[in-house]
Amino acid sequence: MSKTVIIGGGISGLATAYYLQNFAGADANYLLLESSSHLGGKITSDASDGFLVEGGPDSFLTQKSATLDLCRALGLGDQLIGSNQTAMPSTYVLSNGRLHPMPEGMMLMAPTMILPILRSRLISWPGKLRMGMEIFVRPGERDSDESLASFVRRRLGSELLDKIAGPLMAGIHAGDPERLSLRSTFPMFADMEQADGSLVLGMIKRKKAQAGSTTTGKRPSMFTTLTGGLQQLPDAIVGQLNPQQVGLNCRVQSLAFEGGQYRISLADGSSILADNVVCTTPAYVTADIVQQLDPSLAEKLRAIRYVSTSTVSLGFRRSELTCPLNGFGFIVPASEGRRINACTWTSTKFSNRAPGDCVLIRVFVGGALAEDLAEQDEAKLIELARQELREILGITATPVLAKAYRWHKSNPQYEVGHRARIAEIDHVVESHPGLYLAGAAYRGSGIPDCIQSGMDAALKITQLPATALRSTESKVLPVPVAS
Ligand SMILES: Cc1cc2nc3c(=O)[nH]c(=O)nc-3n(C[C@H](O)[C@H](O)[C@H](O)COP(=O)(O)OP(=O)(O)OC[C@H]3O[C@@H](n4cnc5c(N)ncnc54)[C@H](O)[C@@H]3O)c2cc1C
Repeated sequence: MSKTVIIGGGISGLATAYYLQNFAGADANYLLLESSSHLGGKITSDASDGFLVEGGPDSFLTQKSATLDLCRALGLGDQLIGSNQTAMPSTYVLSNGRLHPMPEGMMLMAPTMILPILRSRLISWPGKLRMGMEIFVRPGERDSDESLASFVRRRLGSELLDKIAGPLMAGIHAGDPERLSLRSTFPMFADMEQADGSLVLGMIKRKKAQAGSTTTGKRPSMFTTLTGGLQQLPDAIVGQLNPQQVGLNCRVQSLAFEGGQYRISLADGSSILADNVVCTTPAYVTADIVQQLDPSLAEKLRAIRYVSTSTVSLGFRRSELTCPLNGFGFIVPASEGRRINACTWTSTKFSNRAPGDCVLIRVFVGGALAEDLAEQDEAKLIELARQELREILGITATPVLAKAYRWHKSNPQYEVGHRARIAEIDHVVESHPGLYLAGAAYRGSGIPDCIQSGMDAALKITQLPATALRSTESKVLPVPVAS
């Protein structure tokens, strides 16, 4: 079998190696090269003093089945845990300095229930009226790209954009809603507008159809993780790989095409020849790697913007807090002028995250609108998070655990025009037989998308039909934020 080098040992690179090995069996001839000594990339779980802290992602969405399928295939089925369903209402919004429950039935931006919206004190009466007018708003131009902010403002009004849709949807991508592409981040809403003429009517229709569906068995929780932390997933993949085919502390510097093969040059001065190369590194790293091979490809990759974020996890003795933390946490609209974007009440959201007499809280800092805050040193980030929690939740207790994780240029931004840019990148990559790109920069940055991108690369290399093995995309509703 031809030889494949996989660059990057995050979940995308590990999934590529796993599926290559699975599809090609004993013939699988690959080498995975990771620049650090850690496998899993942004997935990193840290267990200490009875707490389980996630530095990067804390869960994955089950709407796309790739992660669930992989966990089950790896024997982790009994380790899967869903978010706590008894915490109600599950999400709050900070508005005028106070936490308001998210109205029940909100599906990211679209309300699916009228009464909770009418009763909510979060949205003003003119704002509610504007939301109600959504059913009369004509659909935008089919196939045109539009920013998230422009779409929400056009359909549901500025207040919903400011208080709910902006912080929620842009928060997922750590992005600026004025720059993020609707088509590349939440295409289902663009499709729904065209198909149903209204998001409110479209969501209600889908909700009814789902309620009437005859699917049996328990639906997996929308947010799912693993009992021992998400790191269990990369660890389980690594357990299946041949250690001889995984190189740690191997930083790839460049690629060149020589005599029908790729020469992969490493920072230590050595080089390796391969027939196929799968780059799973962030787009700007991949740009440096392919610079010599194809400067125009490098330029297109560099145009994918990344922003920095940080997470701060704080553990407290439960007896020292006065707020009940009954829910998954809260989001912070930019108009509140705070220094945090969101806060997850981790030990309420998932079990097994803190000792019984303690709670674990995680705060998000940075992103497109406040990158400089995320770049501060860890001690300053912890101090910032404590000050914000003191002012918002009244938490004055000294944390028994405090950890900050800085993620420099970590989140790719799918800005307006992203689809066209990816089509151009695909076109150029096709002119380099044996070169593949996978990872968070292209067709979805969530863990399931990254796994799917690795599987797709493995399918192409082994030339198996994609239809035979693609993970199924469940036809379910977008993420409900308050159910
Ligand atoms: C704070 C945060 C929270 C998130 N929360 C969630 C969540 O809850 N759910 C979710 O689904 N997604 C979440 N995401 C997104 C998700 O974690 C990432 O998109 C995904 O893990 C990216 O995986 P990857 O393998 O594509 O890239 P990475 O994890 O970045 O892996 C790339 C790897 O390449 C290596 N590398 C870099 N340069 C080189 C080189 N020159 N040579 C060799 N190796 C190199 C790196 O060391 C790294 O290991 C979150 C992201 C962040 C930052």
